[in-house]
Amino acid sequence: MSASDTSSECDPATGHPRPPRREFKARGSFVRRCEGCNLPELNCLCPYQVKAESHAQVWLITHPLEHYKPTNTGRLIGDVLAQTQVFTWYRTAPDAQLTALLADPRYAPFLIFPDDQPDYADRVVGMEAVHNTKQDSRIPVFIILDGTWRQARRMFRKSAYLDELPVLPLRTDRETRYRLRKPASKAHLCTVEVAIELLRQGGDESAAAVLDDYFDVFNDSYAASRFYTKIAEPTKAMTRLLARQAE
Ligand SMILES: [Zn+2]
Repeated sequence: MSASDTSSECDPATGHPRPPRREFKARGSFVRRCEGCNLPELNCLCPYQVKAESHAQVWLITHPLEHYKPTNTGRLIGDVLAQTQVFTWYRTAPDAQLTALLADPRYAPFLIFPDDQPDYADRVVGMEAVHNTKQDSRIPVFIILDGTWRQARRMFRKSAYLDELPVLPLRTDRETRYRLRKPASKAHLCTVEVAIELLRQGGDESAAAVLDDYFDVFNDSYAASRFYTKIAEPTKAMTRLLARQAE
C-alpha cells in the first residue's frame, strides 16, 4: 500500500478527514531498490556484474526464510558463476532436480558442514578428496546450506536425502568482512565467503578472486547506502571488476 492510498480517507463515524498515517519506518522499507540487483539504487551493483569460470560448482540449498532477504549473500555466487544451482530447502520433499543431480555420476558432491559432532565422523573428508575427483574426471560440487547457523543445522539434521553425502568442513583462518549483519563471531563467514574459500582451496583461485571482489563491492555499496552515502571514487575491487568487464 502506498501513502497516497490513505490520503483521502475519512473517518466513517465523523466524516472528517483522517490524519495521515505515520509512515512505517522499518529499515530499508522506503529505499528505492534497483530491479536488477535489489540493492538500494544509490549504489547499484549492476555495473560490476562479471562472469568467471570455475571447475568446481556451488549448489545452494537455501532456507525459505533466507530467499528474499536483500542482505542474502548466497545469490552473489550465481551472479558470477553461471553454473551455480539454487534450491529451496524443504524438510520432507527434496527438490526433484536436486535429487536427480545428486544421483548424476558426473558430479562429486560435498556437503559443507563443520565436523564438530561425533555421530557423522565417518562421513567427514578433507579438501584432498576434492582434488582427488580429478582422477575420475568428476566435477566437484560444494553444497552449501544457506541460512542462519540455526537453520543450517536444522537443514543438516532433517534432510534424509543428504545423509549419504561426504561432509567437508571448511578450514580457514579467514575472518568475516560482512558488514550487513552482525556475526556472533568473526570466524562465522557469510555464505558467499564460504564459497570463496572453498573455491580457492579447491584450485579455482581466479574465480575465487573475482567473487571476492564482487562480494566486496556488494558489501561496501550496501553499507554506504544505509548511511545514504554515494560512493564517489571507485574502490579497488570496483576498478578490478570494471577492467575485467572491459576485456
Ligand atoms: Zn542494480
